[in-house]
Amino acid sequence: MGVDSGLPDFRGNASFWKAYPALAKAGLDFTRVASPRTFASDPSLAWGFYGHRLALYRETVPHQGFAILKQWAERMPLGAFVFTSNVDGQFQRAGFSDDSVHECHDSIHWLQCTRPCSSHVWSASELTPNVNNDARRWLGRLPTCPRCGALARPSILIFGDGGWLEQRSAQQQALLDAWLSVGSKPSCPVEAR
Ligand SMILES: [Zn+2]
Repeated sequence: MGVDSGLPDFRGNASFWKAYPALAKAGLDFTRVASPRTFASDPSLAWGFYGHRLALYRETVPHQGFAILKQWAERMPLGAFVFTSNVDGQFQRAGFSDDSVHECHDSIHWLQCTRPCSSHVWSASELTPNVNNDARRWLGRLPTCPRCGALARPSILIFGDGGWLEQRSAQQQALLDAWLSVGSKPSCPVEAR
């Protein structure tokens, strides 16, 4: 869905490197940049990548397809529930309510501690990315955990990830399961037939 709004996709090195030539020059692929290892070893590079994406997703206007899906959903007796592996938050931006979206890899618009010191996740709305456009490096003070001061990271599932706090996504999944269970009940109770 996001690609048709002009967002880059990361399927294979060719498309990743096309979107991030600076990382191609450094010989880094998507799985390497999007990993806890890079947040630990080269945080300004990891945050350069995610900071650029955060800014891009915030400014991207969802294409007309989102509006069409929303119109279809509004005509359905039980509405609709979105299941997406996209982390861009575009469905919410297009007007789908937060409680009708399951982001199975979570969302770049939420942050967590890299340690993590607790299960706390917080909104990235206060974060203003400042990224060098050529080198794709985060400039200035890196985002930190408000509780322990360690480096913060987007609360999304990344490669080789043992530290992702999945509670937010799990809560969304519980809402989706509840919605599906309502939808699977007969619309006309047996007694009333
Ligand atoms: Zn912390």
